[in-house]
Amino acid sequence: MSAKPKVKVATIWLGGCSGCHMSFLDLDERLVELTKLIELTASPITDIKEIPEVDVGIVEGCVNNNEEEQHLKELRSRCKILLALGDCAITGNVPALRNQFTLQSVLARGYVETESTQMGVVPNDPVLPRLCSKARPIQEVVQVDGHIPGCPPDADAIWYALTELLA
Ligand code: SF4
Repeated sequence: MSAKPKVKVATIWLGGCSGCHMSFLDLDERLVELTKLIELTASPITDIKEIPEVDVGIVEGCVNNNEEEQHLKELRSRCKILLALGDCAITGNVPALRNQFTLQSVLARGYVETESTQMGVVPNDPVLPRLCSKARPIQEVVQVDGHIPGCPPDADAIWYALTELLA
């Protein structure tokens, strides 16, 4: 009898703190169980950044700049099911606190009014990611199929969502 093919999964993180991925690692020995069912094809955890065609995409963090928007759209175009992992992806949460201010005032606070290595100048090198005027939850940019809430979601919630999905 041939073995059931593993479900291909890719994870990315956008604007956030990486705490949701740390919660993923808190699955501890359950990660061993998961590896029997899934193949993690791309992830900051595995340091494989190239996203192939996958069954499930998992996104931590919200969209803060043009590179993150592109990265999210790339994953969406290559996965069948997309999950938002954590409150930053779902609502904007912590990164979206800046949304009550204008982009110019946020940049001025970061580079001009505060001591920084930029000597009081807002960097405008075209190779740098361009900050969006607002931090956006991912469903404002792409279609999302499921949410795992929490800041961060605890490992049990991640386990429940993944095992239900795989079942
Ligand atoms: Fe960090 Fe919480 Fe945002 Fe996850 S939801 S990236 S833990 S701030």
